[in-house]
Amino acid sequence: MPKTNQKAPKTAQKAFSYASLVQDLPAVAFQRLKSPNGKISYPFVSEKGRSLLGLSPNENILTDIDGCLDVIHWGDKDAFAEEISRSEKDKNVSREKFRAVLPSGETKWFYGYAKPSFKKDGSVLWNGIWVDVSADKRKDQLQTLVLKHIKEGIIAFDRQGAILICTPAAADLLNCPPEKLENGNVFSLFPDTGTAETLKQFLLNPYNGTDGKAVFVTTMHGKDCNDVILEISLSKADDFFIAQFRDITERRQKEMQLQYLAFHDAETGVGNYAYLKENFPRILEQAKTSKTQIAVLSIAPDSLGQINAVAGHAVGTHLLSEMAKRIQNCLTNQDILLRTSGHHFVVLLCGLEFNLEAESKIESILHAFDKTMVVDGLDFDVSVCIGVCFCPQDGEDIDNLISHADLALEKARSEAKGSMRIYTGELSMPAVANMSMHKKLKQALENNEIFPYFQPQVDIATGRIIGLEALARWKSCDGMIPPADFIPEAEEYGLIDTLAEIILNQACSWNQKWYAMGLSSIPVAVNISGRQFHNESQLLKMVDRVLENTGLPPYLLELELTESSAMYDPKNARRIIQTLLDNNIRCALDDFGTGYSSLSVLRSFPLKKLKIDRSFVLQLSDLKNLEIVRATIAMAHALKLSVLAEGVENKQHFEILRDLGCDIIQGYLFSRPLPAEETEILLSRWDARMASTGRGL
Ligand code: C2E
Ligand code: CA
Ligand code: CA
Repeated sequence: MPKTNQKAPKTAQKAFSYASLVQDLPAVAFQRLKSPNGKISYPFVSEKGRSLLGLSPNENILTDIDGCLDVIHWGDKDAFAEEISRSEKDKNVSREKFRAVLPSGETKWFYGYAKPSFKKDGSVLWNGIWVDVSADKRKDQLQTLVLKHIKEGIIAFDRQGAILICTPAAADLLNCPPEKLENGNVFSLFPDTGTAETLKQFLLNPYNGTDGKAVFVTTMHGKDCNDVILEISLSKADDFFIAQFRDITERRQKEMQLQYLAFHDAETGVGNYAYLKENFPRILEQAKTSKTQIAVLSIAPDSLGQINAVAGHAVGTHLLSEMAKRIQNCLTNQDILLRTSGHHFVVLLCGLEFNLEAESKIESILHAFDKTMVVDGLDFDVSVCIGVCFCPQDGEDIDNLISHADLALEKARSEAKGSMRIYTGELSMPAVANMSMHKKLKQALENNEIFPYFQPQVDIATGRIIGLEALARWKSCDGMIPPADFIPEAEEYGLIDTLAEIILNQACSWNQKWYAMGLSSIPVAVNISGRQFHNESQLLKMVDRVLENTGLPPYLLELELTESSAMYDPKNARRIIQTLLDNNIRCALDDFGTGYSSLSVLRSFPLKKLKIDRSFVLQLSDLKNLEIVRATIAMAHALKLSVLAEGVENKQHFEILRDLGCDIIQGYLFSRPLPAEETEILLSRWDARMASTGRGL
């Protein structure tokens, strides 16, 4: 057994070199002896080792009864002693780590091994070495300290997602204890599969379209069960991956708040014009996909301006909020209420299969203001007027649609308080400049810019669609031009025959198509102008030609001639109507009431239908008009003519006409004139509606 202070013999060259190696090793080389009586001592500790432990060369090595050196930190002694007895028991190398508290007060970290050998006398001798790992340990400590103070949530993990280190802030953000996080896997952190999938993709291919970086957002349950929105920035560093977390909940909430404020009216809480602009493309798309209509309502109170002046602005504002509530109560989930400016509200009624479906909601909005409003203790009787247009029928641009509805609103306001009007193209259509009208009209006819729309005629008793009227439309680059703006010109420039044949031809071929499809076997009515009517042979030839071309059975065509053109030359009229009837083509007398008919002349016409002019229908509230309509219906019935009322715009008209015994109605209440494609949808849906509800109206 070498003694610590003994010098190696000069002659033993080999032993000397081993001894100097052991002595000079920058570590603590030692021998530990456990004698048979159980006492543990350190017979040898290398010179370098002694100085590392802060012991002087000749100092005795003191140990306690478990064999722990005195210099070992009291907190590490138990583990140290346990490892020694384990090594003895298991007969294998001990792994020893401890802190040594040096006489100078300095603390050092040691780590090492010792191999036991068992002597015959029952003693155990360990040869071992402890290395000073204080520098590394300090680095570790510093690292932990630094990590602890990083405010940002950071996790480092490997390609398999195994978490290597994390900051306490990360554990906090992810609402997960740090120990669990450190031994866990990133994939198990996120409840939603989308986030885990994004992570997986990034680990598989971190350079896919990025420079090894990716940022995404996920939502997690936070501490108080509130949702926390986290922004995760991923980056690759060597073989590791770093995820940086940021709680952006507050930022998002602020953004959402700002967005809400930008898109909502502060006074009433309903959507504003910006909201409409932002969302209308989506709403329009939906309507197109589902082939439904949107009714655009422009609503304004009749007298809020005065209320503001009398009761003050604050009361006026509260009143507006109350109005918004009343309107909202008349709407369903898919409808949208907006305040676009001052006292104006706009409502979009979405998902309408028929224009008719808007009617009941519009009426309920008007009636919502029947009851006095009590605001800030004051009573207000406010009525509203409503202007209506339809999309895509009247256009697809929301600004244009609103101005159409506004025009109709102005019309309603000029007529009566608490009334509504439907937009007609005529309200705003710019008349095409007369100078070039001839040229433009000619080109339009050549370019197929003129074609028919169709308006259904509905039997009051059965609710069935029993006819369609073809109404000419000119789709010019200036917009849709109404017939009133070009039919007289077509007559004047000698273009009416061409125009008439185009409309007749298209009306008949569409009706033939629907007839062949089994969608309808109802007549289509085509308007005949006075000028055509006076050229008998040309008119009859044209009708013949078209029926021949299109294959439409003659009884599915009806011609409308106006009262005034029939009365211009009654004899001639009688003959033409008779010839047509002989060929199975029926005639209707249009715009009845605007000309001067003599009863005896009227009786001589072999007509089937009489159409009461819409000017009478529009003013049914006027008692004189009501009596004229009543008398007209009675007279027509006496002559065995069925009576159709044109321009029926609302339920009131409809109910009065029904009570007066009118047979057929045609008007916006039921449907606007529609393009052929939409007419086809209407016809098929109307059948289905009749079949399921047993009624159309
Ligand atoms: P009309 O024959 O009296 O046609 C009915 C007019 O009333 C149509 O106007 C129709 O859109 C409109 N109308 C239908 N329901 C309502 C309603 O509820 N309220 C209101 N305010 N109006 C309603 P449109 O299409 O502008 O046609 C105007 C006139 O032009 C027609 O009056 C007809 O005389 C003439 N017209 C139209 N197409 C042709 C055609 O192909 N040939 C000839 N010669 N004249 C035509
Ligand atoms: Ca007509
Ligand atoms: Ca008419």
